[in-house]
Amino acid sequence: MKLKDKACIITGAASGIGNAIAHRFASEGAKVAIADLNLDAAQKAADDIAAKFGTSAMAVVMDVSSEEQVNAGVAQVVEAWGGVDVLISNAGIQIVNPVEHFAFSDWKKMLAIHLDGAFLTSRACLPHMYAKGAGSIIFMGSVHSKEASPLKSAYVTAKHGLLGLARVIAKEGGSKGVRTNVICPGFVRTPLVDKQIPEQARELGISEEEVIKNVMLGKTADGEFTTVEDIAEVALFFAAFETNALNGQSLIASHGWFME
Ligand code: NAD
Repeated sequence: MKLKDKACIITGAASGIGNAIAHRFASEGAKVAIADLNLDAAQKAADDIAAKFGTSAMAVVMDVSSEEQVNAGVAQVVEAWGGVDVLISNAGIQIVNPVEHFAFSDWKKMLAIHLDGAFLTSRACLPHMYAKGAGSIIFMGSVHSKEASPLKSAYVTAKHGLLGLARVIAKEGGSKGVRTNVICPGFVRTPLVDKQIPEQARELGISEEEVIKNVMLGKTADGEFTTVEDIAEVALFFAAFETNALNGQSLIASHGWFME
């Protein structure tokens, strides 16, 4: 049990990658808080986990771009479990459009969810981690934290920005026992990606099969999607690492799409 009784907040955990992380962490004895927009969906995810692993799981309604909701959600977890050991800032959306057609409101929404969300959740959790002298913060970056693609101006900007924020928190938190790292997945088949396939096909004037084969997987070494389980395993690696040697790092899991 690598995370026995650790209190873990995972944003966007009602679906996709966040949900897989919640399952993997619970399988290692963690208490998981499913923080998501929709309380019913979060409660269902928490109930599934509690039934499957017999561990504590709670639903927290949280729009990560709302200062009030983030503070209230973190307070709810601290009240129930006495602190926060691990924060996974994972909630995210995708909006694709060429820059000249990108609505300013969409741009601001993207930066609010990805960047304000990471900032607000970290800010709310850090005092509790500092009080214990220990903690692990993990941001869900992307290959797009390192690489650009057409149509994704706001996403690429936000995901690059997460590296900067993680490095600052790593410097500030290191002496207080808190490490901060970023996971950078390649394409993972989740609702977020399924939605993009027809959108990109339309924008680029190619078929959906070509979007998958050439746009999404064209630069991988083996033509394979990364899976939610792959990313959950990387998250476990960071969260359960025994020391704070890994701090301010980013790890790419993308089937060789991007190498550094
Ligand atoms: P998903 O759509 O399956 O899940 C995203 C979850 O975030 C949903 O449950 C949604 O309700 C929640 N969410 C959205 N906005 C929110 C908000 N304002 N506050 C709280 N919750 C909110 O998507 P996913 O593919 O699992 O993506 C999770 C993260 O992984 C995102 O940050 C995404 O950018 C990143 N990522 C995904 C891929 C991929 O290929 N799927 C690749 C790299 C990075």
